[in-house]
Amino acid sequence: MTENIERVRCLIIGSGPAGYTAAIYAARADLRPIIYQGMQPGGQLTITTEVENFPGYPKGIAGPEMMEDFKQQAERFGTDVRFGVVTRVDLLQRPFVVEADDGKTLHAETVIIATGASARWLGLESEKRFMGMGVSGCATCDGFFYRKQDVAIVGGGDTAAEEATYLAKLCRKVYMIHRRSELRASKAMQHKVLHTDNIEMVWNSIPEEVLGDNDGVNGVRVRNVKTGETKDLAVTGFFVAIGHQPNTAIFTGQLELDAMQYIVTKPGTTQTNIPGVFAAGDVQDHHYRQAITAAGSGCMAAIEAERFLTNIS
Ligand code: NDP
Repeated sequence: MTENIERVRCLIIGSGPAGYTAAIYAARADLRPIIYQGMQPGGQLTITTEVENFPGYPKGIAGPEMMEDFKQQAERFGTDVRFGVVTRVDLLQRPFVVEADDGKTLHAETVIIATGASARWLGLESEKRFMGMGVSGCATCDGFFYRKQDVAIVGGGDTAAEEATYLAKLCRKVYMIHRRSELRASKAMQHKVLHTDNIEMVWNSIPEEVLGDNDGVNGVRVRNVKTGETKDLAVTGFFVAIGHQPNTAIFTGQLELDAMQYIVTKPGTTQTNIPGVFAAGDVQDHHYRQAITAAGSGCMAAIEAERFLTNIS
């Protein structure tokens, strides 16, 4: 057991723009960071297509390719990038104790949490039952399987709007099911959705049940929340795009979280309520949620970790 214990000055959990940017800065500050990539190496951008708003890429870049660039840049300065998931942390003792699913126990002087946020689900039993058999949380990952077919997507935000237009290019018809009569998405995205011929809005409606058989999904039953009427839409793909929840379960009871379970940081910093523990990116930001803001806060976290270590040594 003891031979598996490693000491590390700066441990980074999560490998989206926040985690890798923290790694680049921490490595260049000679903190020899270790980064655990987590469940989804590269983070949410690996399940998007084109990123067009990250400065420095005038022609846009594919999300997975951009994250590979981030990784290579972090490795170039000596970051130890590990494929694995952190399963337990003890932030109440110092050094902090962190266990990962590769069997390692690490004693960390500072921890930067950049675990991001994950897609939310409706919570229907049928949604779970048909997961991977027609139910998906990522149109850009799975849309390909539904080429020339009819599909439905739930949600009214930018993610749903973006995914609906993506699906519209592949599929015959896309029903966009939204619980209100107005989209939450940006005006530009609303315009795109409402002017795409093969997207049909299903307003004021919520999915009541995903229908299917042994071959997978063959429909969705929606209920109009205004009239109470239900109707079945014949679809073979059912995409859920109703927002995200922060990946903070392993920190519950140790770090201060807000009502939505995001990590609370001191305004203008990445400091959590535990000195030496910093949080960057979507795990502490439900407002901006952009790759560039996540990267910026990753940079802040590394600088703050470095200053913290200087002050305690
Ligand atoms: P949002 O929280 O913005 O939207 C979630 C949508 O799902 C809302 O329309 C909401 O309805 C609906 N919803 C939530 N829960 C349920 C439920 N249980 N049943 C039915 N519908 C539900 O999440 P997004 O992922 O779309 O976006 C997150 C953030 O990321 C936003 O700030 C967005 O602007 C940003 N973003 C930016 C992009 C870009 O700039 N290219 C691309 C993607 C996201 P209601 O509207 O009624 O609350």
